[in-house]
Amino acid sequence: MKGMDLAELDRRHVWHPFTPLDEWLDPAFAPVMIASGRGATLVDAEGREYLDGNSSIWTNLHGHGHPRLTGAIKAQLDRISHSSYLGLAHEPGARLAGELCRRTGFDRVFYSDDGSTAMEAALKMVFQYFRQNGAPERKTFVSLGGGYHGDTVGAMSLGRSEGFHATFGPLLFPGEKTMSPGCYRCPFNRAKAEAEDARIYRRCNWECVGEAERKLEEVGPQMAAFVVEPRVQGAAGMVMHPHGYLERVAPLVRAAGALLIADEVLTGFGRTGTLLACEQEKVSPDLVALAKGLTGGYLPMGATLVREKLVDGFRGPLERTFFHGHSYTGNQLGCAAALANLEIFDEEKTLDAVAARAATLREASRVFWRHAKVGDVRQEGLILAVELVRDRATREPFPAGDRLAHRINEEARGLGLLTRGLGGTLFLLPPYCASDAEIARMIEILDRAIEMVLSKL
Ligand code: PMP
Repeated sequence: MKGMDLAELDRRHVWHPFTPLDEWLDPAFAPVMIASGRGATLVDAEGREYLDGNSSIWTNLHGHGHPRLTGAIKAQLDRISHSSYLGLAHEPGARLAGELCRRTGFDRVFYSDDGSTAMEAALKMVFQYFRQNGAPERKTFVSLGGGYHGDTVGAMSLGRSEGFHATFGPLLFPGEKTMSPGCYRCPFNRAKAEAEDARIYRRCNWECVGEAERKLEEVGPQMAAFVVEPRVQGAAGMVMHPHGYLERVAPLVRAAGALLIADEVLTGFGRTGTLLACEQEKVSPDLVALAKGLTGGYLPMGATLVREKLVDGFRGPLERTFFHGHSYTGNQLGCAAALANLEIFDEEKTLDAVAARAATLREASRVFWRHAKVGDVRQEGLILAVELVRDRATREPFPAGDRLAHRINEEARGLGLLTRGLGGTLFLLPPYCASDAEIARMIEILDRAIEMVLSKL
């Protein structure tokens, strides 16, 4: 079938995620039909090539068509694709759990399907744990402003994103919020704006930590867990925390008798430079949610890693069982892909490559400061965010309705780069396999696209 016929079929019968329908269905709009991928490059049905500037929604690590990953999946396919994990076990599942625990220091792994379900499992585990271990009053989850933990109703209830969750407010269970410690828009940052990552020139007294402490005191013995995306709040707009925030807050959570849930769905698997971002904060959470990069971006899979102390709270009579799971829990193909992903980390020294590429990205991204309307350029590992503002001095944002990032990304698409941003903030998350030249090209295209859109304002 030709690209255009496919586009018509799609338009008629598919409902895409996070996609305004009128725009998608506009006859003048031609969707990109991805037909294949190689390394950091995606190829559409017409043979046009694009750099994968957001690692296929933050999932892909080692590039598309990596022989080790495709080989592991094919080999598993020849044995078996899937078997139930309810009352049955299998080799890739056992080996993967062993590897994940060995590398992270956790004790046990609960498998699910994606980031949302990994978070959903985490929150239900914590709720049930307290309920059946003498503290049923501990049912309040505290999370960060702007936080995003997935789209299932439980995961949305932990989220604090106006844009994504407001519609569903009446459907969600109640929880508590403390301020997001993003320095650029922090009301406590007294520094005058500079052409630099706001975390570097900030002037404050760690009021964000004080706010968290106050919230923990207010919630008191009702508190079940503190839920946090360590260091980078992805869907909030790649909001980045000052280094040391979580290191300061984690002991307060412990002192309050609550648990710490780290949502490393985005930050896990080296995206910020270490296997888990928590390592850089010297924090060992009680639960961690993983997905996206778990299979190297090849198959949908999630995992919730826990400590044996929590698991012990589920032992005993039948009614203490965690009655939760999915038809595809522990999918054998996914486990095989995830094992191959971890082997690549060793064989190709992936974390060293991330450090090298991150340095390239940091250097190249200085170019964005040439635009007067760039207010903040921030980076953690291979996550880059460029926030555009009406006025650099006042940090006045562009109205979200202007969809500046969307317009710039549309221009970038025409120049051969695919990525997505949010509101007035551009994101670039290259796959770890991207060469220095490919990273330079991504920056060059984004820079040109910014110029094209800003010059028309
Ligand atoms: N947590 C975080 C931090 C995320 O960034 C996302 C997805 N963007 C999720 C959870 C949900 O993951 P998924 O889309 O795989 O359900």
